Amino acid sequence: MAQSADSELRRLAVQRIGAGRLPCDSAARMWGSQGTGAACALCDHAIVPEEIEYEVELDGKSARPTLQFHLACYSVWLSVCESLQEGSRR
Ligand SMILES: [Zn+2]
Repeated sequence: MAQSADSELRRLAVQRIGAGRLPCDSAARMWGSQGTGAACALCDHAIVPEEIEYEVELDGKSARPTLQFHLACYSVWLSVCESLQEGSRR
């Protein structure tokens, strides 16, 4: 996809993580499978069967232990979490 869509997703991820709507916990398990129409935890769009649904199982501390993402949203979430954690270590 275009770069602008990607930076839009990054902004959304930063917002949601900052507002506590999206956790940055380390994933206990993750796997990809065919979309089931579930809403993506980042962009809120349904993950249709034509797309890969990335399911992330967190370590149990979150109220929502399983998150579903589009492949693109998953990688954005991961990289935003990594950059936030790097920033907080300084
Ligand atoms: Zn998404």
